[in-house]
Formats: sequence, structure tokens, C-alpha cells
Amino acid sequence: MHLIIMGPPGAGKGTQAERLTKEFSLLHISTGDIFRNAVKEGTEMGKKAKEYMDKGALVPDEIVIGIVRDRLSKPDCAGGVLLDGFPRTLEQAEALDEVLKELGMVFDAVINIDVNEEELINRLTGRRVCRNCGTTYHIKFNPPKVRTICDHCGGELYQRSDDTIETVKERLVVYKKQTMPMIEYYERKGILKNFDGARDINEVFTDIKTYLEGIK
Ligand code: ADP
Ligand code: ADP
Ligand code: ZN
Repeated sequence: MHLIIMGPPGAGKGTQAERLTKEFSLLHISTGDIFRNAVKEGTEMGKKAKEYMDKGALVPDEIVIGIVRDRLSKPDCAGGVLLDGFPRTLEQAEALDEVLKELGMVFDAVINIDVNEEELINRLTGRRVCRNCGTTYHIKFNPPKVRTICDHCGGELYQRSDDTIETVKERLVVYKKQTMPMIEYYERKGILKNFDGARDINEVFTDIKTYLEGIK
């Protein structure tokens, strides 16, 4: 099964992706994680991406599309992938269709998680991420057992540099302008499925899981 998970920043894409990939044995491909790793490693691509990420802007389409094309071409994708954070513009969605055609891949569903803006701001400003394994927590809504330490690997938790209130607000503007038009693209294809994300993490997960079991 090949899936896309989309929604505004803070909707819970990464949180649900972590569970869904385990449940359905899928490979988690997050373009945000790919960029953050490149920044950490100090590669040229990482340096370029950081300029955009710090402002809350999107990394240019040509960079992102090339990365996803390369990643999807690898043999480990054949068993099923969950694309998280890509596509994010109409141009990326169209480019993805070309790549899928080249690779002979078909996507089964686009999971769209929706959450109101006030809740998104609360979620993003309280988000903490493990420096070592990338697991995501929330200081109030999904706290680790020990305040600054990852439950899974003991790694140190940090706050993403783009999770400040100013950058969060800019990312929400960018989402509305550049990403929302894509919803209609997948709606027209008849593969979009909407989920109310303003509920408990487990409730949202059960809902998505039940849906996916139905289309499997
Ligand atoms: P969030 O979890 O808040 O939705 P991500 O971790 O997916 O954020 O992305 C963080 C940043 O990485 C984005 O604000 C953007 O700068 C960059 N990025 C990630 N995916 C894409 C993409 N598909 N196109 C352009 N930029 C991207
Ligand atoms: P995205 O990948 O869409 O940006 P995340 O999965 O990183 O979103 O979630 C953003 C923040 O909100 C994290 O701190 C996460 O722990 C928290 N979170 C995710 N889902 C929920 C939920 N259903 N209810 C409350 N908090 C949530
Ligand atoms: Zn960890």
C-alpha cells in the first residue's frame, strides 16, 4: 500500500505516520525529516534548505521533487511507503504523478488531517522532538515520561527552530496559499479521505486504521 498523509503544520501527520507505518509495515518518507537531517549533516542541500525553513517558507519545488524522485526509485519502496509532508504544492503533486508513472507505482489513498488554527498553534509551540530518533512529543498533550528525554531511545528532546510563534504563523499562511489548493487536486482524483484531527491521538489513529483496513 502506498499512501500520502497531508494536513497543515501541527495536524499530527508525523505522529500518525509513526503509528501507521508500524501497523501497515510501510516505509516512512518525511521530506521535513530529510531536510532536517541534511541540515544536521551540513550538506550543501541542507544549507540551502535551512534558509527557507527558518523563514517558514517552502523549499523550492525543484529541490524537493529531485529528492523524492531519488528516494522513491530505491528498491526498499516497493513494499509500500507513506509520504509525509510531500507533495505540498500543486506543482509537486503534478511532478509526483509523473514520477509514479515512470516507476509504475500507484497511490491508494491521500489521508487529509484537518485541525483548527488555534489548536495548531498550541500543538506546534509545545512540540518537542528527539534529537536521536525523531520521535515527536508534546509538553502537554503527549508528554514523555521524563521531561527532556525520549521514552524510546533515551535521546535528548529539543524544540525545532521553526516552532516559534512567529514562524508558525508564517507556515500557516504558506499552508493556506500554497498547499491547500492541492486538496482539490486529490479530491478530483477521488482518492482524498478527510479526517477530523482535533481529537485524541488514539481516536484519530483508530479512525484512519479502520479506513485503511477497508481499502486494503
Ligand atoms: P510540519 O511537520 O510542521 O508540517 P515538516 O517537518 O513537514 O513540517 O517541514 C518542515 C519544513 O521543511 C517546511 O516548513 C519547509 O520549509 C520544508 N519542507 C518539508 N517538506 C517540504 C515540501 N514538500 N516542499 C517544500 N518544503 C518542504
Ligand atoms: P505534523 O507532522 O503534522 O506537523 P506532529 O505529528 O509533529 O504534526 O504533531 C504536532 C504536535 O502536536 C506534536 O507535539 C504532537 O505530539 C502533538 N499532537 C499530534 N497529534 C495530536 C492530537 N491528536 N492531539 C493533541 N496533540 C497532538
Ligand atoms: Zn528517541
